[in-house]
Amino acid sequence: MTALDTPIQFVKGVGPRVAEKLKEKNILVVEDLLYHLPFRYEDRLNPRSLNELVPGEMASVIAEVRGTILLRTKRMPIFEMTVGQGPVSMKCMWFHGTYLKDKFQPGQMLALYGKVEPSRSRAGNFKMIQPQIEILPGADAPEETLLEVGRIVPVYESLGGAQLSSRWLRRVIYRLLEDLGGTLPETVPAELCKRMQLPSRIEALRQVHFPPAGTGLRLLQAAATPAHQRLIFEELFFLELGLELKRRRMRERIGPALIADGRVREALKRVLPFHPTTAQKKVLAEIVHDLRQPTPMRRLLQGDVGSGKTIVALQAAFIAIENGHQAALMAPTEILATQHYLAARRLLERSQRQPPYNVVLLTGSLDEDRKRANRGRIARGEADLVIGTHALIEEKVEFANLGLVVVDEQHRFGVMQRFRLMKKPNTAEPHVLVMTATPIPRTLALTLYGDLDVSVLDELPPGRTPIVTRRIVDERAEEVWGFLRKQVAAGHQGYIVYPVIEGSKDDQPELDFAHDPEPDEVSPGNAKEKTVARKSKAKTGALFNEKPALKSAVAMYEELRATHLAGLRLGLLHGRLRAEEKEIVMRRFQRGELDVLVATTVIEVGVDVPNATVMVIEHAERFGLAQLHQLRGRVGRGKARSYCILMTGGPPLRVSPQAEERLDAMVRTQNGFELAELDLTLRGPGEFFGTRQAGLPDFRVANLLRDRKMLELARMEATRFVESGEKELSRASVEIVWAHLRAHWQRHYGLVEAG
Ligand code: ADP
Ligand code: MG
Repeated sequence: MTALDTPIQFVKGVGPRVAEKLKEKNILVVEDLLYHLPFRYEDRLNPRSLNELVPGEMASVIAEVRGTILLRTKRMPIFEMTVGQGPVSMKCMWFHGTYLKDKFQPGQMLALYGKVEPSRSRAGNFKMIQPQIEILPGADAPEETLLEVGRIVPVYESLGGAQLSSRWLRRVIYRLLEDLGGTLPETVPAELCKRMQLPSRIEALRQVHFPPAGTGLRLLQAAATPAHQRLIFEELFFLELGLELKRRRMRERIGPALIADGRVREALKRVLPFHPTTAQKKVLAEIVHDLRQPTPMRRLLQGDVGSGKTIVALQAAFIAIENGHQAALMAPTEILATQHYLAARRLLERSQRQPPYNVVLLTGSLDEDRKRANRGRIARGEADLVIGTHALIEEKVEFANLGLVVVDEQHRFGVMQRFRLMKKPNTAEPHVLVMTATPIPRTLALTLYGDLDVSVLDELPPGRTPIVTRRIVDERAEEVWGFLRKQVAAGHQGYIVYPVIEGSKDDQPELDFAHDPEPDEVSPGNAKEKTVARKSKAKTGALFNEKPALKSAVAMYEELRATHLAGLRLGLLHGRLRAEEKEIVMRRFQRGELDVLVATTVIEVGVDVPNATVMVIEHAERFGLAQLHQLRGRVGRGKARSYCILMTGGPPLRVSPQAEERLDAMVRTQNGFELAELDLTLRGPGEFFGTRQAGLPDFRVANLLRDRKMLELARMEATRFVESGEKELSRASVEIVWAHLRAHWQRHYGLVEAG
C-alpha cells in the first residue's frame, strides 16, 4: 500500500538508485514528490497554431520536425530545425547546437516552448531561438500519449539529469495519484476548507498536477486555481500556526523587568549629543515599554539608512546598564563593530560618571590575549557594554548579567535563536532588539521575523539634503577623479568602492554579487531543456557577456595614489586586513586624517562619517540594489550636498537589462522602501531575504511575494484556530491539525527560529 510516508524508493519507477538522487533534492517520501509541483503548464489540448503567434510572447506549440541542419558559421556551430503544422512552418535555432545533431527525425512531433521572434525567412514569419523542447511519444506508446498530449500538461523542474525529466515525473506522479486512490489524510479541517471554499487535499493535488480540461491556463500559470490556493493556504497556515505557538510561548518566558524612572531619563538626556527626532522618540518609547515588562523583548527596528538607529540602540543599552545589567551590541562587520565601539565610548564619556562605563570590543580577529582578557571582563561583570561581531556568539562568551542584546543590520545574520545561549542557565532571558535597514513589507516581516514586534523609524534627522546620484561610463573616469579632488579641496571626504579586494576573481569573501540571469538563460525545465540551457549558456555567454577584467581595491588604491589622486591622503580598507589595521584606518578616516577611502563592500553597512560627501562605485552593475542603496547611504549624512557616482563599463552590452534596471532605480529614487520593493520583485523573496540565512523556510508551494494576501488570511485563521479551534471544530479536526504540525514543523518550517 502506498501511503504518504512511504519511502520514495518503494514507489513504482523509482528504486534505490533514483531514490539516492531524489534525496539530494530533499525528496524522501511519497508526500515530498506529490508536493513537487509543476512550475508551468503547456496547453496541448488546444495547441496554438503557428499562424497566430505574436512576436515577443512566450508560446508553447506542437509541431512536426520537417528538417534539421548543422550550420558551421565562423563564430560557432548553429543547429537549425524547421518545424511545421500543415503548410506553415517555423525555424528554431540553437547556438553551439552540435550536440543536437542526431537527436531528431523528420515526422517526429515536438512540444516547443520559447519566445516568439519575428522572422523574414522563407520558413515562415516567426522563429524561436533556443526553445525548450520535448519529443512527444509516437503511436507506439499509448499510455504515455495520454499524459503528454491532448491535455494541459504540467512542466516540472527536473530532479536531476535526463533521467528524472518532466516526462518521467509526469509518469511517476500520475501513477502515484492512482495508487493513492480517492482519499488522503487531511491536514486542514474540513470545516475550514468549506468556509474558505477550498478543495480537499487529494482533489487539490490531482488538479495541480493534472488540471482538468477547461482549467484556465492563465490561472494555472499564476497558481491561482482553487487547487493551488488550497495548497498555498495549507503551507502558510501551518507556518503561521507554528509561529503563533512560539509567540505564545515567548510570552511565558521570563525577562528582566527594567526600570526607566526619572533619574534614568535624566541621565539619558545628558549623554544625547542632539535632539532626537519625533520618530526616534516614538520608537524609544516602544522599546522602553518592552524593557519594563517581565517578559523578554523581541523587537525589530526598521529604519532606512541614515535614519539614526544607532543612537536609539545606545539609549536602550544605557537603560539596561543603569539597571545594573550588561548590554551587548552585535554588528555584521568588524569595521562597524569598531565604529560602534568608538561611538559608544564617546557617548558614555559624556555622562562623566564615576567610575566610567566600561565598554569592551570583541571581534574575531583581535589577538588571542586581548580576546581572552575581554572575555574575562565580560564574565566577571566588569564590562557594561560589549560590542562585537559574530565572535560574540562564536567565542563562547559568557555574560555575568546580560540584560539586552542589540543586533545591528539583521539581514546579515539570521541567528536569533542563539542569543539564548548567551545567558547563564537559570537566569532571565535578555531583551533583544534587532535593527535593519531593509524595509520589509509588514506582512513579510511578521513571517520572516516570526515573533518579533516591529517599530519603524520613518523620519530622517533634520538638515539632510538629497544625494545627487549619477551614472558615468568608465571613459569619463578622469572627470570623476577631478570632481573628487574638488570635494576634498573643499574640506570633504569620499569613498571609492570596488567589487573585489585583489585580482579579478569573483570568489572573494565579502562579495555578494547580484546574480543576473545570462541574457539567453531559460527557466529550468525538464532534463532536455536543462541541457539546452546550460550548454548554450556556457558558450554564448562569451558572446554576449564577456566578463571584463575587474578593477580591484588594492590595485586601484596603488594606481590612483600614483596618478589621478596623487597628493591626496588615501586609505585602503577591505576584509582581509587584520582587526587592528581596520581599526586604525577607520579611525583615521573618521578623524579626517584621510581624504579618500578606497574600499570593498566592507563599508556597505553602517559606516558613519558625516563629512564624507562623495561615494564612487566602480563596476556598479555588479552590485545588488540593496547593496547600492546601503553604499549610497554612507554619504548624505551631514549638512553638505552629497554625491553618489555609479560607474559602469562603456559598451552597453556589458550591463545586463536587470543591472540596467537597478542602476536606473538608483538614479530615480532614494526611497529605501521603493528600492526594496523593486529588489524583491527583481530577485524574488528567496534571494532577497537570502532564504536559509534569513531563517526563512523553503516554501514548496507558496511564494511570499505573490501570496501576501493568503499569508494574511493564514495568519488570521491560525490565530483563530489557537484561540477557539477547540470550540468551533470537531475533536478529530483539531487532532489532525496538531498531528500535522508536529510531523512537519521541524522539517519544513523549523528554520524560523526567533529564539
Ligand atoms: P542608521 O540608521 O543608518 O544606522 P545612524 O545611526 O548611523 O543611522 O545615524 C546616521 C547619522 O545621523 C549619524 O551621523 C548620527 O549621528 C546622526 N543622527 C542620528 N540621529 C540624529 C538626530 N536626531 N539629529 C541629528 N543627527 C542625528
Ligand atoms: Mg546603522
